[in-house]
Parts: sequence; structure tokens; C-alpha cells
Amino acid sequence: MARLRRQFTNARTLALTYDDGPCPVMTPQVLDLLQRRSAQATFFMLGGRAQSHPEITQRVVREGHSAGCHTSRHLNAWKTLPSSAVSDIRDGYEQLAPWVASDGMFRPPYGKMTLPTYREIRRRGASVWWWTVDSGDTNETLPRIGDIVDAVRKQGGGIVLMHDLDRGLQRNQFVLDLTEALLDVAARESLQVTPLIQAMS
Ligand SMILES: [Zn+2]
Repeated sequence: MARLRRQFTNARTLALTYDDGPCPVMTPQVLDLLQRRSAQATFFMLGGRAQSHPEITQRVVREGHSAGCHTSRHLNAWKTLPSSAVSDIRDGYEQLAPWVASDGMFRPPYGKMTLPTYREIRRRGASVWWWTVDSGDTNETLPRIGDIVDAVRKQGGGIVLMHDLDRGLQRNQFVLDLTEALLDVAARESLQVTPLIQAMS
């Protein structure tokens, strides 16, 4: 994590990342916003949801964003059998095959990995991507957008974790407003907004 933070902040780079989609309510709104602001981001998708919404998944890739694997069913590797957690990764990559390479980027659900899931990722030659700033968009009480923006400004960039899930108007708006605020601070602070790519690891 410290190495990841240094790598991003030394380069004054900001990566916006959205997990758990694609979602028919939220993902198009996030994509519309990114398009309006000419920004590109990274989507760590669930294979099962990508299969249910191939047209949205296709749009993510078509509009130049990076797509990574976030498993198929979002199992927590610390709370499930090792074999189930490994299967969840394999299923995710299989379902995402039209959009994500078999060694494409991976983000573990809840940020949790075990030795067997590490082995599976290493066997594929994939890279694991955590985050340096948690937006708190899944917290019981939503944080203040200004605090997240300040954290990014103070760090001089980083990788921000958000979710493109439909969790009600207030949370959806939080993610959209935060995205907009992060793009604003990037412009003010001359941070380069970039999608994650395998080569960065
Ligand atoms: Zn997730």
C-alpha cells in the first residue's frame, strides 16, 4: 500500500476506480459524467453482473476505461472455503473474458486475499490492485466529500475506491458528486487522471 501510494503520488497521478458493477442504474450515470469531463477511470467488475449487463460492460470498454476482475460473486476470501474463493476468481475471469484478459487486473472483494487466492492470481500472471483512498461510500454514515478531496490533495494523487452500485438516491449522488469534485481538484492541482493499466504494477 505504501509503495502504491508513493508510486502514484510521485507521479501526481489520480486513478478513479469503481467496484461491484456493472449496474444498470449507476454505471451509465458514472460513464456519462466521465464522458462529459473527458476523463477515464477503472471499473473492477463482477463477472456475474457483467454477464447480466453485457451492453453496459461493452460501453465501459468502448469508451476507453480500464476493466478489471472483481470475482464473479464477491466472496470474501477470509470468510469462505479456499476452494470457493479460488473458484470465484476463476469464474469471474471466465465471465469477463470478452472484456478482461485472463491475466487482467484484479481487485479482491473487501481487499481480502489468502495464500490460495494469491497463488491463483500469480498463476494467471495478473496484478492485484488495492486503493490508497477509500471514499467511504459504503460506510454507514457517508463522509464529507471535502474530506476525501483533501486526502487526495494532500497525498498528491492516489487510487480512490468508489462503487458504481445502486444504493439509493443519496449514495448514488454522493458517488457522482465525489467524482466531479475529484476531477475538479485534479484540474486545480495538475494531477493526471488516468485509468489503471497492467503495466503500472
Ligand atoms: Zn467489492
